[in-house]
Amino acid sequence: MKKIVVIGSINMDLVTICDRAPNGGETLLGTEFFQIPGGKGANQAVTIGKLGSRVVILGKVGDDLFGKELLSSMDKNGVDIQFIEKAPVSTGIAKIVVEKNGQNRILVVPGANSYVDIEYIDNHLDVIKDCDVVIGQLEIPISTVEYAFKKAKEYGKITILNPAPAIKLSEELIKNSDYIIPNESELEVITGMKIESFDGIIEAAKKVIKMGVKGLIVTLGEKGSLYLGNDKFTKHSAYKVKAIDTTAAGDSFIGGFVTRLDLGVDKAIEFATKVSAISVTKRGAQTSIPTMKEVENFVG
Ligand code: ATP
Repeated sequence: MKKIVVIGSINMDLVTICDRAPNGGETLLGTEFFQIPGGKGANQAVTIGKLGSRVVILGKVGDDLFGKELLSSMDKNGVDIQFIEKAPVSTGIAKIVVEKNGQNRILVVPGANSYVDIEYIDNHLDVIKDCDVVIGQLEIPISTVEYAFKKAKEYGKITILNPAPAIKLSEELIKNSDYIIPNESELEVITGMKIESFDGIIEAAKKVIKMGVKGLIVTLGEKGSLYLGNDKFTKHSAYKVKAIDTTAAGDSFIGGFVTRLDLGVDKAIEFATKVSAISVTKRGAQTSIPTMKEVENFVG
């Protein structure tokens, strides 16, 4: 069975539900509070673990209660956490305020995630050497992702980049990525193009392919996703489900995709579409990610 390493963020999501978010200087009562394990790196690793593939995570937490809980959540879900280190600051958190009308306001404090540096990767090059696929996102310093992907390609590994949150990418990082998986707004940022139509997505996607990536998958929420490679283009519809919370839809898609990549891109996307469809029917990030059994029982 192939082994996957996820290099990325580990956060505690602190979710408050309220009628409306307070204005500056105002205090209001909220209606509900949830503390849910998250962070794009951890979410993707947990997806892979829940689906039964071998996965190890490289990342950092603080020496605090959130850190302990996050380690336990990943461990319980089949993620190898032995290389996670403690940073001398708090664990990363995301404060999420959700209004009755569904509007979100999110404040992220990266904390320990910003300590995932090149030196840490250098100390764990054996973990990269020992795996088949490397996945990265951009909630840790981008210099770390650039370095890790450069090393991964030197060792002949498959690399998958989820450019979120989006910033402009260096040509080297694009060249060192076999697959890049952005959503529509992330595609706009990485290409610097304003996308206003389906043709606009294709045009932007072609621009990324020309920069040297093997395959680009653009996720389009309830509209599904599309794949553009050097030699082909495919469109994949999403399942029609009753979506209640799309947090981690993208992360569960990526986790699902990588676990089936050895069957070819189309099959991997079909599987990812199923995994992410189930995730949007449940609340939260890691709490919404399905097990293999749930995916097998899913009738779309
Ligand atoms: P997030 O940032 O919330 O994790 P994202 O913006 O990165 O998500 P999306 O494009 O919203 O990612 O969703 C990823 C995939 O999840 C889509 O390609 C689709 O297959 C599935 N998906 C998302 N929303 C829905 C929905 N409402 N119904 C069914 N499937 C969905």
